[in-house]
Amino acid sequence: MRCPSCGHSESKVVDSRPSEDGATIRRRRECLECGHRFTTYERLGDSPLIVIKSDGSSEVYDREKLMRGLLIACAKRPISPEQVATLIESIESELRNASKNEIKSKELGDMALVRLAKLDDVAYVRFASVYKDFQNIEEFAAALEGMS
Ligand SMILES: [Zn+2]
Repeated sequence: MRCPSCGHSESKVVDSRPSEDGATIRRRRECLECGHRFTTYERLGDSPLIVIKSDGSSEVYDREKLMRGLLIACAKRPISPEQVATLIESIESELRNASKNEIKSKELGDMALVRLAKLDDVAYVRFASVYKDFQNIEEFAAALEGMS
């Protein structure tokens, strides 16, 4: 749960209550670094996010896989692994806030692109030029490895 203001990873919960849909808990958190207060919606229990690929097949969302693809796109660019982790957390938090249980792989890719665009043009272009044509991150990663 990173602070949206400064990116610090530790926060304390100042208030906690079930949200109206009953499936998530709404938490008010306070950043231990800068004191910024923010709200998170945390999924109850363990309902995994399902990623639907363009061929219609689906798989359980795999953070490590997305991380690998992004790290490769960011290779030799001035982006730290921590920034990539923050980017992924931001995607996950948007998905949680939207109470989504499934997402198309293309939407997931687009969410990554929007964020990548703010970090680095080269990483954005690498991710954009290859990701859209691929069924999954493994193919994407293999292609990018071939490009470098
Ligand atoms: Zn902060």
